[in-house]
Amino acid sequence: MSNKYSFFGAVEKSFDKAAKFTKWDKGILEQIRQCNAVYQMRFPIKRDDGSIEVIEAYRVQHSHHKAPCKGGIRFAAEVNQDEVMALAALMTYKCTIVNVPFGGAKGGIKIDPKKYSPFELEKITRRYTSELIRKKFIGPGTDVPAPDYGTGEREMSWILDTYSAMHPGEIDAAGCVTGKPISQGGVRGRREATGLGVFFGIREVCNMPDIMDKLGLPTGVEGKKVIVQGLGNVGYHSAKFFQDAKAKIIALAEYEGAIWNENGLDVDAVFQHRKKTGSILNFPGANNFAKTGEALEMECDILIPAALENVIDGKNAPNVKAKLIGEAANGPLTPEADEVFAKKGIIVVPDMYLNAGGVTVSYFEWLKNLSHVRYGRMEKRFTENMNSQILSQMEELSNKKVTDSARQMILHGPDEIDLVYSGLEETMINATREIMETWKDNPAIPDMRTAAYVVAINKVATAYSELGIFP
Ligand code: NAD
Repeated sequence: MSNKYSFFGAVEKSFDKAAKFTKWDKGILEQIRQCNAVYQMRFPIKRDDGSIEVIEAYRVQHSHHKAPCKGGIRFAAEVNQDEVMALAALMTYKCTIVNVPFGGAKGGIKIDPKKYSPFELEKITRRYTSELIRKKFIGPGTDVPAPDYGTGEREMSWILDTYSAMHPGEIDAAGCVTGKPISQGGVRGRREATGLGVFFGIREVCNMPDIMDKLGLPTGVEGKKVIVQGLGNVGYHSAKFFQDAKAKIIALAEYEGAIWNENGLDVDAVFQHRKKTGSILNFPGANNFAKTGEALEMECDILIPAALENVIDGKNAPNVKAKLIGEAANGPLTPEADEVFAKKGIIVVPDMYLNAGGVTVSYFEWLKNLSHVRYGRMEKRFTENMNSQILSQMEELSNKKVTDSARQMILHGPDEIDLVYSGLEETMINATREIMETWKDNPAIPDMRTAAYVVAINKVATAYSELGIFP
């Protein structure tokens, strides 16, 4: 695939396109656009067979307008400086759109994790963390990593353990990384947060009658035909929440192949089939696509690329038949693809806010770590007692009893998961509305991505101006 722009170049292009719709001075725009700090490192590890391998890795802090910086760490053979810079920049814009008070950052280790044993992966993760500590590129108040492509709770535990061992007695150490297991200070709901945020964001767009009218679709998610690429953390959960909301998952794509069934696929069953057989292909009752890329070109209402960047470019974009594309992955569309879709009237719900569920719930996790208390612990029982009093009074006054199921619902005080889900839902709904209003207020803005960038630029620029950096 030959694209005109590098990934960071594509982010810069989108930024410049949006900057024209803002009133900010050229200097402020330039400060926002650039990466503030780029740390490229190389370190050796001893492999299980005794050989020594030099590992290439990165941490990029894109913006220091808020502290700490925040962004995931990815393990992938394709990791390079340009990619990490682009992802760090997207984090700044993402955080600001969903009002998470962090600067953007990203980390990457250039390895294919499938080719390393768990012991080797642990060594690499711990050594990477030590390198970050050495340069003060990690800490609850400076830079807080999280999972991304190829990493998960296990790697976050190793990071926390390494950080804690090297900072004995640091009371807020757990806040140095998010996406941890619950037992290590993680928050309930973090694992599925990005997928759930993707669902909330697209559902909000689907609930907008004017947008659905333009696409010739009824409002709501129910019955919509959905295709998801990537059955990893983000893709699996996105697909699952759409299925739970009665959308039809008509195709699923993985790197080894793709399958379809017009009547809908059961996401959990496909996931289990892949786990058992090692491939998504030959799922009972489904058809195999000849090539995995064909799944992106099948007729559907909503297409959700949730794997990697640059999967839809100028070449295959004209073949895409979806009416709405939800960018669950970071950077799945190239600027050329964007142009094709803008001309065709296809709505692209952009990555920089659509997949912000992960960082939003990471923010909740970080707050939990700093406050050292589980969400709901203080108010759950109090709320239940109050609800019980109110219900008794109402029943006494009306001389009627509510049903058992209604009683259970009314009395329920919030658990951590309830608060995390509702905090995320509120965040995604507000962000969607703010972007759409910005778009409507300025009809010259060509697409939703540009509108999202306008919102982001305005917020970061306001923060910089009010910091007094640009008197
Ligand atoms: P993951 O490693 O859990 O899953 C990625 C999946 O995509 C894997 O199952 C992989 O096999 C599959 N895949 C790889 N190449 C493919 C191809 N060519 N076609 C089809 N499938 C392919 O990673 P993830 O955490 O789900 O991240 C996916 C994307 O979402 C990345 O772009 C990441 O930056 C972005 N993202 C992740 C989070 C998060 O919380 N995990 C948050 C925001 C954004």
